[in-house]
Amino acid sequence: MIKLEDPTLFRTENYVNGKWVGGSAGHIEVLNPANGTLVAKTVNGSAENARDAVEAAAVAFKSWSKTPAKERASYLRKWHDLILENADDLGALMTAEQGKPLSEAIGEVKYGAGFIEFYAEECKRVMGDIIPTVANDRRLLVYKQPIGVVGCITPWNFPNAMITRKAAPAMAAGCTVVIKPDAGTPLSALALCELAERAGIPAGVLNVLVGSDAQAIGEVLTQHEKIGKFTFTGSTAVGKILMAQCASTVKKISLELGGNAPFIVFDDADIDEAVTHCVATKFRNCGQTCVCTNRIFVHEAIARDFTEKLQRSIAALKVADGFEEGAEIGPLINTQALEKMDALMADAVDKGAKVLLGGARHELGQNFYQPTLLTNISDSMRLANEEIFGPIAAVQTFTTEDEVVEKANATEYGLAAYFFTRDVGRVMRVSEDLEYGIVCSNSGVFSTEVAPFGGWKQSGIGSEGGKEGIADFYETKFHSLGGV
Ligand code: NAP
Repeated sequence: MIKLEDPTLFRTENYVNGKWVGGSAGHIEVLNPANGTLVAKTVNGSAENARDAVEAAAVAFKSWSKTPAKERASYLRKWHDLILENADDLGALMTAEQGKPLSEAIGEVKYGAGFIEFYAEECKRVMGDIIPTVANDRRLLVYKQPIGVVGCITPWNFPNAMITRKAAPAMAAGCTVVIKPDAGTPLSALALCELAERAGIPAGVLNVLVGSDAQAIGEVLTQHEKIGKFTFTGSTAVGKILMAQCASTVKKISLELGGNAPFIVFDDADIDEAVTHCVATKFRNCGQTCVCTNRIFVHEAIARDFTEKLQRSIAALKVADGFEEGAEIGPLINTQALEKMDALMADAVDKGAKVLLGGARHELGQNFYQPTLLTNISDSMRLANEEIFGPIAAVQTFTTEDEVVEKANATEYGLAAYFFTRDVGRVMRVSEDLEYGIVCSNSGVFSTEVAPFGGWKQSGIGSEGGKEGIADFYETKFHSLGGV
């Protein structure tokens, strides 16, 4: 049992139309990835339950969309405040179901709340237009109107923030939402509903449906005629399936998908800074974020120095249960993730990679994997091309700027890219030439609710965060007013 200051945040029913309801597909067992123990048994919603949630959200849309933005903002502000007041409990729920260290989990809760605060402010500033007329008996007006019910599917790696990053702008814009969180991490989502209810958010505006039949629920959320927009965060493979499903009703769609982030260190970089940020971007959430460093490119002149320092930093990381004081690396999410690490390692070693650190499952057992450092990486290795999504750092070397930019861009992904150099001209050139939605120079820190976050190429469509993050929840309407 998870120890919470407020045990009533532990919810296991679905939240639909302002009520806590059962599911018609039995139960789901939520397991702690650090030790395999049962954390919770939640209800299991079905496609039929999803349809009920969409119908409820469609009814709620009628009044919520007409609620003045200032009033919607005030509900969201209350929700935000309650989330911050309960950040420790929300963090504990997340660590129990997802495994990330408690301090990281609480950090995610605060990051997630930031989207609610930002969009509570932003929705008061979304403007239409009055266009200078082309004839004196007419006026040309452009309205921004909420798009309708929004269907959302979210992943397990950020069980809180991937929800608020969608729900907050949608609700702020006047839309209502139906969210299917990952079946492995439903508790964070349901606790957010408990707090939304306490904030007085009207019934049917926020609906969360936990269900293990993702495909059937996904078909409802992508194809139901009463859904105006569908938004997904998860793998590129699933994103493509959902995008195709959305075609049947020509639904507006946003996708936040996988990444293959390059981390480039030029020979004039501050090596200590680069090492610090390399470790942070590679090992956050045990390497399981879409913006985690995936390919490390180091200029050959500094490769030895950089790699030695990187090795020392990685060796110092504390691998432990996320609830243990000072834990920095928790477990991977499940056995399949461990098996993927085994397979990537076997492939890399087989093709000539040199193991400087780790390279095997961790003595803590369960889903723990050793923080790993590899060199001698070649293009043919799987981990040079696929999203690793685990604690394996793989270092390659390069000689020229053109060569490394070309290599960094040689992927179907285009989410985040990092580079370190003190040359200001190079900062501009490389930031412009990298084919990524997010480029980060001389730092690995960038996530914030005030700026757009989104991928190029097969990493996604659209952006979340910033003014861009709310724009897609509105339809544009042109009113040509005659007889003036
Ligand atoms: P995933 O397998 O694509 O799952 C994501 C969500 O989709 C889960 O809720 C899952 O449900 C659901 N799902 C799976 N198959 C489905 C289907 N056929 N129809 C409808 N829904 C389906 O991804 P993941 O492994 O959970 O998450 C990791 C991926 O997300 C990585 O690729 C990562 O890069 C990406 N990600 C991207 C961002 C970003 O902002 N770009 C942020 C975070 C993560 P169940 O698991 O409950 O079955």
